Formats: sequence, structure tokens, C-alpha cells
Amino acid sequence: MDDDVFLIKFWGVRGSIAVSGPEFSRYGGNTICIEMRCGKHTLLFDAGSGLRSAGRSLRASGVTDFDLLFTHCHYDHIIGLPFFAPIYDRSVKLALWSGHLAGRMTTRQMVDEFMRPPWFPVKLDICKASLDFRDFVSGDVLRPREGVVVRTASLTHPGGCIGYRVEWDGRAVAVITDTEHQPDKLDPAVLGLIKDADLVIYDCTYTEEEMERHRGDGHSTWDHGVKLCEAAGARRLALFHHDPTRTDEQLDEIEKLAKDRFAGAFAARDGQTLKLPLHNER
Ligand SMILES: [Zn+2]
Ligand SMILES: [Zn+2]
Repeated sequence: MDDDVFLIKFWGVRGSIAVSGPEFSRYGGNTICIEMRCGKHTLLFDAGSGLRSAGRSLRASGVTDFDLLFTHCHYDHIIGLPFFAPIYDRSVKLALWSGHLAGRMTTRQMVDEFMRPPWFPVKLDICKASLDFRDFVSGDVLRPREGVVVRTASLTHPGGCIGYRVEWDGRAVAVITDTEHQPDKLDPAVLGLIKDADLVIYDCTYTEEEMERHRGDGHSTWDHGVKLCEAAGARRLALFHHDPTRTDEQLDEIEKLAKDRFAGAFAARDGQTLKLPLHNER
């Protein structure tokens, strides 16, 4: 792989619960998981059901030393971890990071709590990989790998959630899921993370019409994502965390409406890969 390539791969784009069926076949049904390749470094964001396929791909490309950062630990963001083959592989070194429960629970405790009987047949101690559990506090600037800077901030979500901004080689990608916006108000924490970003991956669970029925559920809309990106000078907007009822046809329609408002908008799909342009190619 080229040393200056900044690659984003979506392994799971569905929120709340995995879905399957012909009406979801193009956008995909796996829950939240994103891979980023910053040159030779690999970072994963969230461990939804899409993580299982990410694990097979990492193994195939011989990646054995990487980071996994959790936005938070609702099921749609963790359910793939027990099925992530690299954690059972002795040759793998994996750092797991979280900050949404800072002061309440460590990353190790958070994973221990759900990966054990009676919810799963075996405990975490069966894992043969070298697992390095890392804790941080919202607002911390992480440097997981040489040259990779990850900024953090708190999002608005029941139980807490962390938004990330990954900076590498003069480019930036923001992961803003899950979060709820206030009508006609742009969250300064989100604006800070997405300022001039090359790509913003944003929680677009609801439409504006649905939003009012779902106040307090902790999610947002593509309209609001567009407003944020325009205000912050971001280049591209990935509509993400699709509602589990949303069919391919409906997502096509939403994507079209979003593109009409903001040319850089698109609805993210399972398996989709994006390469960020270099500064001189923009
Ligand atoms: Zn979610
Ligand atoms: Zn959530």
C-alpha cells in the first residue's frame, strides 16, 4: 500500500440492529464498523456486526497490529467483538480505546461485562491476542500511532458517546455517531471536530419529519448534517447509522435529496471504500 494513502472502508453502516433481506441488499445490513488506513497504520471505529468481515479482511492482508476505538457501547456498536477472529489470534496486538464511561467503567470492564456467560459462551480470558485496554477522557488528544492524531469530544447521546476526528498527513476524517442535535442549533463540540474535514461520517438515523417523534433517542438527521458541514467548511458528508427500517429505495431517495443540498453528500454502504485526495489533488 502507498505510504501516503488515507483510506476509509465502511464495514457496517446500519444503526440499532442488523438487518437482512433483498430490500437492504445494496446499502447493507451490518451495524457500525469503520476501518481507516493511514499509510501503514490501521484504525477501526466500533465493533458492530460489520467487525466480523473486517477481521477476515485484516487477516487476509496480514494486519496484526492495530487499534479499535469505541464511540460507546450500545449493542449496535459492540456486538461483533466476540466474532472478531483477530482477538483469538496469538500473533495479533490490538489496542482497545474508550472514553464514554470515563470515571464509571474502564474499557476492560466494559468489554468484560458483555463478553462472558450467560451472554456469550466464553470469557475474555480465552483471547490469545495481546489486548491493550486504553482509557481516555473526552477532550483528550490521542496519538495511537506515529503521525496519527485523534481528537475527541462528547456527543449528545443517552449514556454518553465520543466523537472522533482523525488527522493524518494533512487530512482529516470525523466520526460523529451517535448524536442528537437541538433544532436550529449547531453543537460547538461537533463543529470543532468537523472543521475543514475531508470527510464527516454523521448519524443520519432520522428524517426531519421523524425527528420530532424521537426526541431524546440520541440521533440526528441528514438535514442537520448538511448544516453542520456547510458551517464548518467540510468537503464530504457520509450519511451513516441508517435506521433499520430504511430500504435501499428510501436511501436512494434520501441520498438524492442530500446531494441536491450538499454536493459532497452520499449515503454510506457496507463494503464501500473511499480514498481521500492528497492536498494538491483537491
Ligand atoms: Zn447506534
Ligand atoms: Zn447508541
